[in-house]
Amino acid sequence: MVKIISVILAIVVAALLPTVWPNPYYIHLMVVIGIYAILLLGLDIVVGYVGEVSLGHAALFGIGAYTAGVLNFQLSVPFLLAVPASIVVTALFGAILALPALRVNGPYLAMVTLAFGTIIQILINEMTFLTNGPMGLSVRKPVFFGHHINGTDYYYIVLVALVTALFVVQRILKSHLGRAFEALHDSPIASDCMGVSVYGYKVYAFVLSAGIAGLAGSLFTYSEEYISPNTYNFELTILSLLAVIMGGRKTRSGPILGAIIVVMLPNVLSDIELFRKISIGIAVLTIVYSTYAVATSQRTLKQLMLPLLATIILAASGYYMENITEHRLTIFGVMILFVVYYLPNGIMGFLRGIVQKIRPQWIHRHEEISEHGDKQHVWSVPDHRVTAKGHLLEARNIMMQFGGLKALNEVNLEIAKGSVHGLIGPNGSGKSTMMNVLTGIYKPTAGEIEFNGKLITGATPSSIAGEGIARTFQNVQLFGEMTAIENVLVGLHHTFRHSLIDVVFQTPRCRKQRNAARVRAASLLKFVGLDDLANEEARNLPYGKQRLLEIARALALNPSLLLLDEPAAGLTAPDIKELIVMINKIRGHGITVILIEHHMDVVMSICDKVTVLDFGQKIAEGAPANVQCDEKVIEAYLGGSAKVAA
Ligand code: ADP
Ligand code: MG
Repeated sequence: MVKIISVILAIVVAALLPTVWPNPYYIHLMVVIGIYAILLLGLDIVVGYVGEVSLGHAALFGIGAYTAGVLNFQLSVPFLLAVPASIVVTALFGAILALPALRVNGPYLAMVTLAFGTIIQILINEMTFLTNGPMGLSVRKPVFFGHHINGTDYYYIVLVALVTALFVVQRILKSHLGRAFEALHDSPIASDCMGVSVYGYKVYAFVLSAGIAGLAGSLFTYSEEYISPNTYNFELTILSLLAVIMGGRKTRSGPILGAIIVVMLPNVLSDIELFRKISIGIAVLTIVYSTYAVATSQRTLKQLMLPLLATIILAASGYYMENITEHRLTIFGVMILFVVYYLPNGIMGFLRGIVQKIRPQWIHRHEEISEHGDKQHVWSVPDHRVTAKGHLLEARNIMMQFGGLKALNEVNLEIAKGSVHGLIGPNGSGKSTMMNVLTGIYKPTAGEIEFNGKLITGATPSSIAGEGIARTFQNVQLFGEMTAIENVLVGLHHTFRHSLIDVVFQTPRCRKQRNAARVRAASLLKFVGLDDLANEEARNLPYGKQRLLEIARALALNPSLLLLDEPAAGLTAPDIKELIVMINKIRGHGITVILIEHHMDVVMSICDKVTVLDFGQKIAEGAPANVQCDEKVIEAYLGGSAKVAA
C-alpha cells in the first residue's frame, strides 16, 4: 500500500515538474534522465537479476536510436511505428548477440559484447548510405494531428514510456520469469535440474533487456533530434553499468536514481557553487549516519573513519578549488570507488536496509499462502510408460572418465518402477557421479540411459527434468536469496504455461496458474514440515531444514523418479525417522526413488534393492539383507568407513 501511494505520488510530482519549473534546459535534462532510466531498467535485468556483465548495451541503445533515425530520415516512417520497430530490431540484435555468447560462462560474455559494441560503432560509421556515417542524422520531433511536439510535450511522452517500462519490467520480474532469472543466478545447476534452462532464460533476459534498450534508443533520437556514431561508445557502456550498481541492483528505483546521478553529475561537476552545496550535504549526512551507527553500535568508528574523512575532504576541497572542471574525472572516480566499496547494494539497497531495520514488516518479502493448501491433493503422478522389462530406468554400461580416472566403469543399473533403490558405497566410489550422469549434468563417456522407454543419454539437465527426473544435491543447492516457498515455486515452473503477454496484462489464465502454484507449493512445504518457514530466506534455514526444502522443491517437479543424494546428512535422529516416513509416503504416491545414503539404518529399512559401488564399479546388488552380508561389500567398507557393519 505504502509502495503504491509513493509510486503514484512520484508520478504526480513528475507530471507537475514542467509546470512548476518551465525551464527548457531542465526539461530536456529530465527527458534524458527518463530515457537513461529506461535503458538502465533493462540493463538491470541482465546485470542485477541474471548476474551477467554486458558491455554491449551502449551499442544496443545505438541500434535503437539508429533504427528510429534511419526509418524516419530515409523512409519518413512516423514516430508511432518507428519506436516499436526499434524495439523489435534491437531485440533481434540482442538475440543474435546472446545466442552464441551465452553458451559459454564467465568473462566470455563481457568480451563478446565488447567486440559487438566496437563492431556496431564501426558499422554505423561505415554504412554511410543508411546512417550518413560520421555526419550523423537529423530527425524532427513527431507531429501528431498537425501539432508539432515541443520539448514539454516530449517530456510527457517519455514520462509515459518510462512509467510503462517500469510497470512492464516490474510485472515480468515478479512473475515466474523473474523468479527463473533469480534462480539461475543463485544456483545454475539446481535451476537446470528444476527444468529452468539456464541458457534459455539467460537469452530470454538478454533479449528483453535489448528490446528495452531499443525503446530508450529510439526515444533518444527524437529527444536530441540529431544522432551521430560517437554517442554510443564504450564510455556510455561503463557509465550505464556504474549507474545500475550505484543506484542499486534488483530494484526499480535504483536505475532511476542511477540515471539522475549520471545525467546530473556533469552539471554538478561544472558548477563549483552547486558542487560545494552538494558535497557539504553529503558530508553532513555521512556524519549524521556515522554518529547514529556508532551510537547504536552497528559499526565501529574505525570502520567509518575512511568514508567520514573522504566526504569531509571532498567538501573542504570544494572551497580550495577555483575551477572544478579539471578535477571532474578524479572526483567521479573517487565517488564510484566509494559507492562500490561501501554500498555494494547501491544507494537504494543501502536506504532499503535502513528502512528495513526500522520497519521490518514494510519490506519483508511475502508470498501469500492459501489456507486451503492442505485440502489439495499434493501430487498427481502421470502414468508413465515403462521399459520392456518393467524398469522405469535402465543405465547400460555407463562409463564416466575424468582424465585418467574412471569414476564409473561399465556400470549397469536397473530401477524397478515404484521401488526405493539404494545406491551405496564408500566415499569416492562414484555414487554422486552416477546421479550427475542420470540427470544430464555429466555426459557419460560411454553407455546409454533409457528412461520411460526413451533414450535420454546426452540430453540437457533441464529436458531430463522435464521428462520427470527430479533430484536433491549432496551439497545443498538452494536458491539462497529466495524464500522457502519461492524455492518450491521454481520447482513448479513447468506449471506456468503462459506467455509474456499474459504476464504483462495479468490475464485470468496467468492469475489462475499463479494461485494454483502457490497452493501446491504451500502443500509441499507442509508435506516436508516447513510450512512455518515458508517466508524465510533459504540461506537462513538450518542445514537439516535446507535438505528438506530441497526435497519439497524436487517434488514440485512432479517427478516419476526422485534421486536423493544423502538426504539424511546433517539431520538429527528424530528428523531421520521422519525422513524415513516421508520417503515411504513419496513411494506411496507412486514415485520411484533412488537413494544414496550412508546411514545404513535408513537404507536397510526402506530400500527394496541395493546396488553397491566401489571405485566406480558395481560390486554387489540385491536385497538389503543379502548385500549387507556380502564379503566384497564388507571388505570395501572396511577399507573405508566401517558403518555397514553396524
Ligand atoms: P561419491 O560416491 O562419494 O558420491 P563421487 O561420485 O562424488 O563419489 O566421486 C567419484 C570420483 O570421481 C571421485 O574420485 C571424485 O574425485 C571424482 N570426480 C567426481 N566429479 C569429478 C569431476 N567433475 N572432475 C574430476 N573428478 C571428479
Ligand atoms: Mg557423493
